[in-house]
Amino acid sequence: MSYTMLNYITPLKENWKIKVRIVRVWYVPDYNKPEKIGSIEFVLVDEKGSKMQASIKQTLIQRFEKLVNEGSTCIISNFGVGKNYGKYRATYVIGTITGIGKMIDESKGSTPNFKLPLEIEDQQKNKLKTTLWGKYAEQVSNFVKDDIQGHVVIIIQFAMIKIFRDEVTLQNSLFATKIFLNEDMSEVRDFRGSVSIIGGDDSRSQNITQLPSQMSHSLSDEFLIMYERKQLDEICETNKKCYFVTFATIVGIESDTAWYYNSCKQCNKKVDYEGGGRYWCQKCDAHVQSALPRYKVTLTVEDDSGTTTFVMFDREIFQILQISAMDLKDKLSKEGR
Ligand SMILES: [Zn+2]
Repeated sequence: MSYTMLNYITPLKENWKIKVRIVRVWYVPDYNKPEKIGSIEFVLVDEKGSKMQASIKQTLIQRFEKLVNEGSTCIISNFGVGKNYGKYRATYVIGTITGIGKMIDESKGSTPNFKLPLEIEDQQKNKLKTTLWGKYAEQVSNFVKDDIQGHVVIIIQFAMIKIFRDEVTLQNSLFATKIFLNEDMSEVRDFRGSVSIIGGDDSRSQNITQLPSQMSHSLSDEFLIMYERKQLDEICETNKKCYFVTFATIVGIESDTAWYYNSCKQCNKKVDYEGGGRYWCQKCDAHVQSALPRYKVTLTVEDDSGTTTFVMFDREIFQILQISAMDLKDKLSKEGR
């Protein structure tokens, strides 16, 4: 009987048979009903050491749940294969903590959520910016509070890699990540050994420095990190008002409807023309003498999971075009369009 190695698996066919060890299992709650399990996620490794992420969808959990145990070896066949667009990767980082920022309280409502910026240095002295959230932030913060002598060796497994403006940062995932600190294991001993050889007198990065506050991220960076990344089909399934980050391509711009609307200068809402140069604003419940054009553009966007429409409003369109809707309207009418 022959098994396929994980690095030969492609999305093109489904009758693969693999022999793998399950190295990590975690449960993701259902987005709309958090008390229910939405999916079981796990990471597989084959005998050559290649890794792959796998998941069991909600409808199949009952059938397969008992078969998925961390550390066990199994043979899997008849499964679907999809591309991983980078939501999670089977990352493994080992390094010393060289910098730690201020713990920031990002709690919303009653759920506590802390954020901790970290700087990690690997064997080759590369520095990696890391942001930890929630229980992971608390784990590291509590550990370093105890005034540890010497290096703190950190291992981060199953984190998310974010690339923003050519800078790579690492961030824990909500459920999958595992963090080990000064753990007594062979990898850590090897790492300490190699670092002290490279560093000579082992004097470098002896202490963890307090990161300056400019290490904290910009607003847009913050947005990309703080909100969950979803594909278009997942967004369409969501029935709650919330914020997401998505990565999609604009494939069309709706041209049947107007690209702007006349807005009330008080509240920015749409106004209706009443005739005689007057407008009516329903929100303000008042007549308005002049109205300001504001952008409202309907776009067709597409990613690997499907196609949908997004509406872009004034601020976002202005950011792209760098001309206000009013100026553009004037410009076009002067050109006779
Ligand atoms: Zn108004």
